[in-house]
Amino acid sequence: MNYLSTRGAGAGERHTFSDILLGGLAKDGGLYLPAQYPRVSADELTRWRTLPYADLAFEILSKFSDDIPVEDLRALTRKTYTAETYCHVRDDGEADRLAAQITPLKTLGVENGAPLSLLELSNGPTLAFKDMAMQLIGNLFEYTLDKHGETLNILGATSGDTGSAAEYAMRGKKGIRVFMLSPHKKMSAFQTAQMYSLQDPNIFNLAVEGVFDDAQDIVKAVSNDHAFKAKYKIGTVNSINWARVVAQVVYYFKGYFAATKSNDERVSFTVPSGNFGNVCAGHIARMMGLPIEKLVVATNENDVLDEFFRTGIYRVRKAAETYHTSSPSMDISKASNFERFVFDLLGRDPARVLQLFRDVEEKGGFDLAASGDFARVKEFGFVSGSSNHDTRVETIRDVFQRYDTMIDTHTADGLKVAREHLQSGIPMIVLETAQPIKFGETIREALLREPERPAAFTGLESLPQRFEVVPADAQRVKDFIAANTGA
Ligand SMILES: *Cc1c(COP(=O)(O)O)cnc(C)c1O
Repeated sequence: MNYLSTRGAGAGERHTFSDILLGGLAKDGGLYLPAQYPRVSADELTRWRTLPYADLAFEILSKFSDDIPVEDLRALTRKTYTAETYCHVRDDGEADRLAAQITPLKTLGVENGAPLSLLELSNGPTLAFKDMAMQLIGNLFEYTLDKHGETLNILGATSGDTGSAAEYAMRGKKGIRVFMLSPHKKMSAFQTAQMYSLQDPNIFNLAVEGVFDDAQDIVKAVSNDHAFKAKYKIGTVNSINWARVVAQVVYYFKGYFAATKSNDERVSFTVPSGNFGNVCAGHIARMMGLPIEKLVVATNENDVLDEFFRTGIYRVRKAAETYHTSSPSMDISKASNFERFVFDLLGRDPARVLQLFRDVEEKGGFDLAASGDFARVKEFGFVSGSSNHDTRVETIRDVFQRYDTMIDTHTADGLKVAREHLQSGIPMIVLETAQPIKFGETIREALLREPERPAAFTGLESLPQRFEVVPADAQRVKDFIAANTGA
C-alpha cells in the first residue's frame, strides 16, 4: 500500500504505512491518504461479520499496512482490544459480555420507522472515543520504535479529551515519554484528576499559567525550533495522524454488523464532529464498500462543517469567533482532517486541493457552491446539521425520560441531528463519543441529578496528583523537557 499527499508533493515517491506512522503533515503541508482505497469483497464481509473486534481490526488494518508482518499486527490488535481495557460499560447486569464486544450497540427504539441505536465508543480508559484509536497508536509506536532502537518524546496541548487519551495510551510504554500541556485550573475536576493522577514516570503533566491557546502556542513554538525538535526527538499525536483515522474505520464495520442481519441491508451513521477525524473514517469505510446509506455530520454551535455541507462554502473561523460550548471537544475553528475528504470530492486532483487550501490560509475559506463538485457531496452520502446548548439539554432530558439512558453532551448533539435525517426502514446508528461523567455540569442542568460514574472511577478526584506548574513561556517548557529526557 502506497501513500500520497493530498497536495501532490513527492508523487511517484514511495511512502509505506510505517513511514507515515510517526509523522504528521506531508512535507507540502498536505495529508497522507492511500493511493487507492482497498475494496472489501462480499465474501470478506460475510466472513468478518462474526469476528471478535481485535480480529476485525487486524483484517482492516492489514489492508492498509502491508509492511508490518501479519503475525506482529495480529498480536498488536489482540493486545489493544481486550475486555479488560474496554471494561467501563455502564450496564451492570451483563458488563462482562458487553465489555468483550468492545463497542456494544445499544438499541434505543424505533423513530419514524427507523431503528435508532447508540454505538458505545467510550468504554475505554478515559471514557471517550479517542481511546479507540489512541490505544492502538500507543502499541504501534512502541513496536515501531523498538524495532528501530529509537525513542520519542510526545509534546501536546490539551483542553481535556485528547491529552488524557494520549497519556493513557502511552503510559508505561518503552521508549516513549509524554509532555502534555494543559491550562492550569481551567479543566473540570474530573478531567484534571484523570490526567494528573497518573504516576507513571514517562508521563509529564505541565499546567500552563494561561488558557488553552497559550499552551497550544508553546507547542507550536517548540515544534518550530527544528534544532530542538531533532535533538530531543519531539513528536505529536494529533488528529491528522493517519493511523488514528484508520483505526477508527473498524467500528463502522462492527456497528454495521451489530445493526443488521445480512449484507444486503444498508445503515446510516451520525457522527458528532469537530476535526472531521471520526467521520472521515466513516467515509473511508464507505469507500471500501461498507453499505452505508448516509453519513450525518453533527456539529455544535461551531458549525463550520454543517455550513459546508448545507451551502458548499467552507469558511474557517478566527479564534475569537469560536464559541466555548457545553460540548467542548467539538469547539473547533477549522476541521483539520477535512482536506482528506475534499481530495476525494474533487476526484483526487492535488493541484486543486493545493489551491483551495491556499485560499483557506489567505482568504479564510473557499466556495464550491457553484461548482459541479459540490453536487457530488450527495453521492458520497453526506448530510449535516447542528445543535446548540438548548437543544443539547433538551435531547439529554428526552433520551433519559424516553429510553432511561443517560448520554453526554456530544452524543446529544449527534442524536439531535440524527433525528432530522431518519429514513423509514434504515437503521440509524449514532456514535456515542463520551460518557456523561466527563461533562457532569450539563447533566446536572438537564436532569437535576448526578451523572453516572463507572465503578472504577470512584474517588478519582481525591487521588494524589502529580504535575508541574509552568509559566506560559516556551523556553521554560524546553528547559523542562531537556531536564527530564536525560539527553
Ligand atoms: C474529539 C471528540 C469529538 C470530535 O471528533 P473529531 O474526530 O474531531 O470530529 C466528538 N466528541 C468527543 C467526546 C470528542 O472527544
